[in-house]
Formats: sequence, structure tokens, C-alpha cells
Amino acid sequence: MAKTPSSRPTGWKCDPRLPIEALAFRKRNPELLTEEGLGRINITAWLYKDEDERERVKVNPNITIAEIRKEFGRAATRDAETGIHSEGIAAQFFKDNPGFRVLGIFSERIPCRMQCAPLLRNYFPGIPWFYYYDRDSWRGENGELLKRAAAALRVAYGL
Ligand SMILES: [Zn+2]
Repeated sequence: MAKTPSSRPTGWKCDPRLPIEALAFRKRNPELLTEEGLGRINITAWLYKDEDERERVKVNPNITIAEIRKEFGRAATRDAETGIHSEGIAAQFFKDNPGFRVLGIFSERIPCRMQCAPLLRNYFPGIPWFYYYDRDSWRGENGELLKRAAAALRVAYGL
């Protein structure tokens, strides 16, 4: 049973379909349940209304550095080595589909300060974020600080 995600701003309740769909995506791709998969891949799930006012969930992972290398050859610059973040991919999808209205943004890791946070604030103002892992504040079952996303996600998803 997945835990209730944290929210930003605080006090918002995450639609339970979002972490459920994110976990289901991992389960359909079993390599995403390994230590490496949990550590390297961040899944994002966005709740939105389509043109017919039906609520739907869009799920996607980030593209990993390994995938980028495989597809495009070795990254030419250091900057490209940082990879494309899942929230950025989702943001592009909704930019390309302006008829879809975003209601909530779940990301397993809190949107990063450098790229995703400013992007989401700019293009999706007022939409709450929900997340499990925040490098600075995640606590395990016994109150211990968990520094690694993989460990945090195991607790969050009950894996
Ligand atoms: Zn990011």
C-alpha cells in the first residue's frame, strides 16, 4: 500500500491514483523495481482533465543517461550528461496538448531546484506538487534520515 505523498504547498491531498499509477508503471517494467532502477529513474504522474472533462493520469519516467547514450551516442558536453528530467518531459506533453487541464503533479522526487521547480512554477502556476523523496527531509520508519532515493521509495511504496 503506497503512502500518502507530501505536498507543496503543504496541506494538499494527493489523488491516490497518482502514486498507484506510478508504481504500476514500475511493476510493468520490473527493472525499475531494482535498486538501480529505483535510484536512477524518477517517475512522474500528472492528473488532468481531457477535452471531454474526463480525469486521466499521464505517467512518464525520465530518460536516463544510459538511454541517451544508447540512442544518440556519447554525450558531447558535460551539460547533456545531466539527462532529461521526467517533469520536463511531462511539461512538454502538456504544452503540446493545450486542451488538457493539469490538476495535480506527482513526482517521486521533489522537483529539482535548478530545472524543474522553476519550469513548473512558470508553466503550471498554482498547481500543487506531490512527492515522496526530498533529499533534505526524508525519514524512514524509525525516524532515521534516508539519503538515498531508492531506500525512500521502498518505504513509500511498501516494496
Ligand atoms: Zn528536475
